[in-house]
Amino acid sequence: VPELPDVEVLKQYLDATSLHQDIKAVEVRDSRILEDISGERLKTGFKGHSFDSTRRHGKYLFAELSDSCWLVLHFGMSGDLKYFKSMEKDPEYDQLLISFSNGYHLAYNAPRKLGLVALIEDMDAFVEKKELGPDAMSLDVTGFQKALSDRRGMVKSTLMNQQIIAGIGNVYSDEILFQARLHPRLGIDELDGETLEQLFNTMREVLQTAIDRRARPDQFPGTYLTRHRNEGERCPKCGGEIERLPVSGRTAYYCPSCQSR
Ligand SMILES: [Zn+2]
Repeated sequence: VPELPDVEVLKQYLDATSLHQDIKAVEVRDSRILEDISGERLKTGFKGHSFDSTRRHGKYLFAELSDSCWLVLHFGMSGDLKYFKSMEKDPEYDQLLISFSNGYHLAYNAPRKLGLVALIEDMDAFVEKKELGPDAMSLDVTGFQKALSDRRGMVKSTLMNQQIIAGIGNVYSDEILFQARLHPRLGIDELDGETLEQLFNTMREVLQTAIDRRARPDQFPGTYLTRHRNEGERCPKCGGEIERLPVSGRTAYYCPSCQSR
């Protein structure tokens, strides 16, 4: 599932491939991904423009068109971007295909239909409409403590709540809590100021490490849980057994000895 580091890598990919190129055509192949916009409007919105800049908020990627409209992309459960030249490699499941005058194409796909494509004028208004909290990587420690103050609920579900902090999902909340040595079911209100500050530092470090390593778990440090995130696997820190635990309808993986309550 694309979480903050994955979307940041997709942003860097779009930056490296598709900025400042004349857009020749846009093809919407599955209108179910479109939110509040018709395929026709999307096509005319792109015509004669190029992407000037990109931004990311949580798991959303925004690409600014030269008339200050923003293309919004959300990658659902397993979405991706592909920049390519040969149309022979064009997979049928791409839901949005942007063609540039240099002969290249940028394809967006979100195979499990949970992606989202929109065209908006105001990024802040969009973030507000989606009720997204501040982006996990743009928060400072004070903002983090403020976002989590007066909250109830378990620390894992709080970290994953996009309305509180945007960008963290199931995999990275497990990694952050593993590195912070906190049990996923601890109440957020049980954490004192010092623990919250450590959690903030760990969150930043985990997300930045993942971004630096292109969000590829096989490149993560040997002490990371993500590569061992299966029941019965061995904890990379103590050798104990990784266990799973339901937390607010999701499954947490954790090490009971490293993350005791
Ligand atoms: Zn352990």
